Amino acid sequence: MSASPVASSQTSLRVVCLPGDGIGPEVMAAAQRVLRELAPDLELEERLFGAAAIRATGTSLPEETLAACRSADAVLKAPIGDPEFDAADVRPEQGMLQLRAELDVYANLRPASLGGVDLLIVRELVGGLYFGARGVREDGTAFDTCEYHPSQVERVARRAFELARTRRRRLTSVDKANVLETSRLWRRVVGEVAREYPDVAVDDMLVDNAAMQLASDPAQFDVIVTENMFGDILSDLAAAMTGGLGLAPSASLSDDGPGIFEPVHGSAPDIAGRGVANPAAMLRSTALMLEHAFGRLEEARALEVAVDVGLQKRPTPDLGGNATTAELADAVVEALS
Ligand code: NAD
Repeated sequence: MSASPVASSQTSLRVVCLPGDGIGPEVMAAAQRVLRELAPDLELEERLFGAAAIRATGTSLPEETLAACRSADAVLKAPIGDPEFDAADVRPEQGMLQLRAELDVYANLRPASLGGVDLLIVRELVGGLYFGARGVREDGTAFDTCEYHPSQVERVARRAFELARTRRRRLTSVDKANVLETSRLWRRVVGEVAREYPDVAVDDMLVDNAAMQLASDPAQFDVIVTENMFGDILSDLAAAMTGGLGLAPSASLSDDGPGIFEPVHGSAPDIAGRGVANPAAMLRSTALMLEHAFGRLEEARALEVAVDVGLQKRPTPDLGGNATTAELADAVVEALS
């Protein structure tokens, strides 16, 4: 998967932690607390990123942070973003796109489960509309371009088929092939890769239908693979269908470098500094790191179960409870022991 899975306790494994902005440092503190209990051998080091980095260094992704991430075994990232920089020339989000591109984490895994729903969205993360040429012409027309090379589609499709093989062996490829050239390419390449996976049942679905199906019958899905922007939107919908943003984790994987493990939610400036952010998405992202970066499945499952127990006992305000971030983290640590 991302970093070659290393389970040896003799090797020192380095996790670069990016606490980010808003509620970022609050949920990161919970993740570090849990990791110190569960995996004390991991070396945790913090680096500046996002608005905090712009204030300190003038750039969202300082060279030193990028170098540390490149040489790490995994990057554990809390959300970034600050309304103060919304209209600025240098914005926190630029550093995020740059970090994804630099580490070439092309496969973004977003699991969502609740009750009878258990699905995994695999979103292409370093191509498409978010990375194409953009600008504003003299007459005021703004444009963004969407481009995909067949090799970009092929590698994320292959990753999705491999993941489907570890699950219920069903893959839905989402596109807009009735309108977009990039989607016709997407559909063709996914079809070609599908021939190598005859044991996986695959179907194509248009993105508008996929949104409707996700909202009305999410239990029909196993793995969904789609391009960058469709995946961005559909995965937030899937998160909302399965308990809300405070619960949704993600893993972004490359072929051979470190992965980035981060919650789907943003920096939540509306609740930042009050100590009431739900750390579950951050903790579930930490479980994904243990699984995909280090191959430590047992610890990953133990953490997932402990998070579920913690959420039952000490729910945070977004779930109708009154626990603080630290109290939920305490309940998770207690459940682990
Ligand atoms: P958001 O996810 O920060 O917040 C949306 C709503 O969900 C808010 O009401 C917030 O209070 C709530 N929420 C989010 N996470 C929560 C948690 N863990 N516990 C409890 N409630 C939670 O989205 P937004 O307000 O659109 O964006 C805020 C900032 O975050 C923006 O600057 C945006 O660019 C940035 N952002 C960053 C990332 C990232 O770092 N990957 C992702 C999305 C948004």
